Amino acid sequence: MIELVSAERCTGCNICVSVCPTNVFDAVEDSPPVIARQGDCQTCFMCELYCPVDALYVAHDANLAVAVDELALEDTKVLGSYRKAIGWTADSRPRRASDRSYLLLKPH
Ligand code: SF4
Ligand code: SF4
Repeated sequence: MIELVSAERCTGCNICVSVCPTNVFDAVEDSPPVIARQGDCQTCFMCELYCPVDALYVAHDANLAVAVDELALEDTKVLGSYRKAIGWTADSRPRRASDRSYLLLKPH
């Protein structure tokens, strides 16, 4: 379940708002988006994957919200670890920008 939008890292690009298939985030003008409907998160990790600055953390448990410590996530290099494991790197960013596979998860 989505647990963190890092205000330190977030650039406010709102890509996560666009890719989330269940509309969990609300965009906020000149600020990071907020987790507005955490209970609707389906733990698909799309937001983590697409965030260009690794500002998001999705915990593995899909049914239970858990408290997270951003500093600990930083120290253990968890932020961005899923993206790296998938193979999306800074070099692949142009391809990432054109990827539309997240649309497969959007309700029709
Ligand atoms: S995708 Fe990342 S940088 Fe962009 S608004 Fe969401 S959390 Fe912030
Ligand atoms: S993990 Fe998936 S459902 Fe949950 S907030 Fe991120 S994109 Fe939305």
